[in-house]
Amino acid sequence: MTMRFRNLGAALLIATSGMALTAGAFAGEAEDALVAKIVGAYGGNRLTNMRSIRIQDEYKNAFPGQGYTPGYVEFTPLKQDAQLDLAGERGSVEGWSANFNFTFNTRTVSVDDDIVAINYTPGTYQPGAGADYYAAFGAVIRVTDTLLAYELSKQTENVEYKGASTYLGRPHEMITFTMPSSPPVTLHVDAETGLISKMTRATGFGALTYQFRDHKAANGVGYASNFEFFVGPDVNILTLSREVSVNNVRANLFEIDRGISEEGARVDTSEMTVDEIADGVYLAGTGNAYTAFVDAGDHIIGVGGYAGLTDRFTAYKEAAGHDKPLRYQIVTHHHTDHLGGMADAFALGAIFIAPANAVANLNTAAGETIPEDRLQIIDGTMTLGPVEIYDIATNHAESFALAYIPEAKVAFQADHYNGIYVDEPSQAGTSSVYLKNAIDDLGIDVDILLSAHGRKASSWADFEAAVAAYDPRPCASGRTICRGVSY
Ligand SMILES: [Zn+2]
Repeated sequence: MTMRFRNLGAALLIATSGMALTAGAFAGEAEDALVAKIVGAYGGNRLTNMRSIRIQDEYKNAFPGQGYTPGYVEFTPLKQDAQLDLAGERGSVEGWSANFNFTFNTRTVSVDDDIVAINYTPGTYQPGAGADYYAAFGAVIRVTDTLLAYELSKQTENVEYKGASTYLGRPHEMITFTMPSSPPVTLHVDAETGLISKMTRATGFGALTYQFRDHKAANGVGYASNFEFFVGPDVNILTLSREVSVNNVRANLFEIDRGISEEGARVDTSEMTVDEIADGVYLAGTGNAYTAFVDAGDHIIGVGGYAGLTDRFTAYKEAAGHDKPLRYQIVTHHHTDHLGGMADAFALGAIFIAPANAVANLNTAAGETIPEDRLQIIDGTMTLGPVEIYDIATNHAESFALAYIPEAKVAFQADHYNGIYVDEPSQAGTSSVYLKNAIDDLGIDVDILLSAHGRKASSWADFEAAVAAYDPRPCASGRTICRGVSY
């Protein structure tokens, strides 16, 4: 990438007066003054008249609660090439990552009136599911101070001055506004320069914080060359480099690349379903959250712990036509997303079967320390009535509980392979290879592989085919975004 950083000229820092601003049918003087200051700091008319913008980022990315161990979270490389046609409200965002856990190279792009998701590794695209410009590209706007200033300049209502504050010892002023498809965002603006130091917003994932530093300019439009993103107290993204250019986005970007074909039909996961996989083995769930329930005679064993466990258990009991208790809940691994339903399991009276390294996160998720008589640690291998449990070490987690029902030749896992297509295998990842090797080493006979993240009951043949087709190269697509990378 050629770097086109320039120092932000002093003139740019001075808020220009008398600019035509539209911030506020309902906004008052304080709002108008601060919006004018921000717009001036980011280039004045050059900002407000900007037709397009390209932001090329190289990040270190860390997913809270998703480390190899519960101790800390590893960073993974992530590259993003975002191009927005502001006047036409069209976007193209290509992403790439390859690491110990997963590899992807995708592009979300406006094509005519649709938004399409291209997956370059298998060479397929998926039609957009009704997403609009702000739903699809709002994330790019939120990580780019220039675009926050641009959106603010377009606001005619819902702009509110929130008073003075201090950030890193410097006087700041706060202003709140609303973009479509997002809770209100609060800008923390340096009182002297008018540049955005920080944006905050409250979401279902908790408080999100976006930090902007080292402001520069491209064609007279200001931008922060350094950006950091926090989920609650946890760092999620650190920027290694950010390159911004304006008014250079090409129209031919907004089409599906040659050679990319529409992917096969996906399994419908839009509603809660309960599927009987084998005698006494059911899979219940919706979206990306599924639990297997195994009938053990006078009680039920659950595996798969996403939030909403009680709803799945209720749906299962209705479908199976009984009212047996959930006596055991198997915890697959320490990742916090797979523990979201553990407070439900605790309330249902379940005894937890967990890898040792998942116990601390399990207690947090359950909302209290699980009493000793409600917790059994998996020591290598365990048999629980009709279910065998194997603690396997994979790339995804140092300790992972694989559940296997020998009578039905069914295995349940999370995060190592997820079938999504009706008639064909999904793409395998590094984790799929580890899982297959682990199952081969155990010597167990698996016919059907279930996933915590989907409804598809994958045949072993499909899973084997997916693993055989796995391409370990970090830039298998050969696209510019990842050419020459290593990790
Ligand atoms: Zn996981």
